[in-house]
Amino acid sequence: MPVRFFLLFLDMNTNFKKGFHSICVKDPVIDGLSAHVPPIYATSTFTYEDLDAAFEFFKSGGKNKDVYTYSRLGNPTVRFVGDKIAALESFGINNEDEPYFGMLFASGMAAIAASIMANVKAGDKIITQGNLYGTTNELMVSLMKDFGVETIYADLKDLNFVEDAIINDEKIKLLYIETPANPTLACYDLDGLAAIAQNLGIKTVVDNTFATPYIQQPLKFGIDMVVHSSTKFLNGHGTGTSGVLVAKMEEATYKKVYGLQKMLGAICSPFEAFLLNNGVKTLPLRMEQHQKNAQALAEFLSNHPKVSRVNYLGLTTHPDHILAKDQMTGFSGMLSFELLDGLEAGMQFQRNIKFCTLTASLGTADTLVTHSASTSHVNVPKEQRLQYGITDGLIRVSVGLENIEDIIADFEQALG
Ligand SMILES: *Cc1c(COP(=O)(O)O)cnc(C)c1O
Repeated sequence: MPVRFFLLFLDMNTNFKKGFHSICVKDPVIDGLSAHVPPIYATSTFTYEDLDAAFEFFKSGGKNKDVYTYSRLGNPTVRFVGDKIAALESFGINNEDEPYFGMLFASGMAAIAASIMANVKAGDKIITQGNLYGTTNELMVSLMKDFGVETIYADLKDLNFVEDAIINDEKIKLLYIETPANPTLACYDLDGLAAIAQNLGIKTVVDNTFATPYIQQPLKFGIDMVVHSSTKFLNGHGTGTSGVLVAKMEEATYKKVYGLQKMLGAICSPFEAFLLNNGVKTLPLRMEQHQKNAQALAEFLSNHPKVSRVNYLGLTTHPDHILAKDQMTGFSGMLSFELLDGLEAGMQFQRNIKFCTLTASLGTADTLVTHSASTSHVNVPKEQRLQYGITDGLIRVSVGLENIEDIIADFEQALG
């Protein structure tokens, strides 16, 4: 194999023994010219310097990750960023003999779709929560249904119910979890759910978008796959769309996920991977500041006479505060709240916002304000929404890195 790719492999291995912050910051040298910042490999193909290695690669279904032939099958810029996120998700797990792989995708949805399709086939069933990210919910009830996969909604807080449901239906092959969940920040017990799934021999996937590996590492609890919309906190600047899937490097799993990416073509572009890596470098610093500002804003809102409810994991009033403390190392930068006067007051509040940004999405450096019922959850049936506290007047806030006084001043004037 060409020497330059071999260098990448060695470099990543030595980096991975360092601390979490160091892994975020350090990049491998992946080119022959020792570029300090890894270049964007804007190329669709790679010439066959080693003909035998290239043929072997095609034959093996992409088993040797150090051979590059065609960018849909692997690209060095994309590859090293996926490896870096795998190292962060598996940080602190003894991964000497259990390395993990991270594969970048075109978007969070592409990674989520791959994680589902890798674990179920026609005739199988998925058990999950009813308060999933809107498009994940849509994927399950429309596309997966069309391909013969049924979705069963359960209250994932009720571990006995989940266990009985799986015992009583051998068609359930996947437990899909989103924690903390959008936008009420409901949390689910990763330790308990992973244990049930492992005992009963079914697979688990966790969407870790809201927490990021800096705050929560589902793999530590025995979860099989972690997925992200890396469009959000991992990129951190709102500059690109991407997704990532991390799982244990078992041949069957890798081949399955790799095959899906190859066949669906849902690859991350090298440019988006480059932007994602820029964001990951400051992930710990940003998450610390996001959650510090979020805590202060949550406390301000809970003391405001016009606010009827605040959902923030750092408040002891949040029903999942204790669980979050147990399985996360922080409370992230997301909160939601409801005004006493419901929908109309919520709409007026948004119209009054002057300094913060009105937009969907989350995890950028600036504070984003959005209305859940009409954006992220617009396609979720109202009844299902209400069951999970996603009321018509709920406002979601992705708390940014501005001076907290400026954020609070804007909220104060917008609340009127
Ligand atoms: C945004 C988001 C997704 C979808 O990710 P895209 O990058 O937009 O495809 C999935 N899950 C959660 C929790 C999200 O916030």
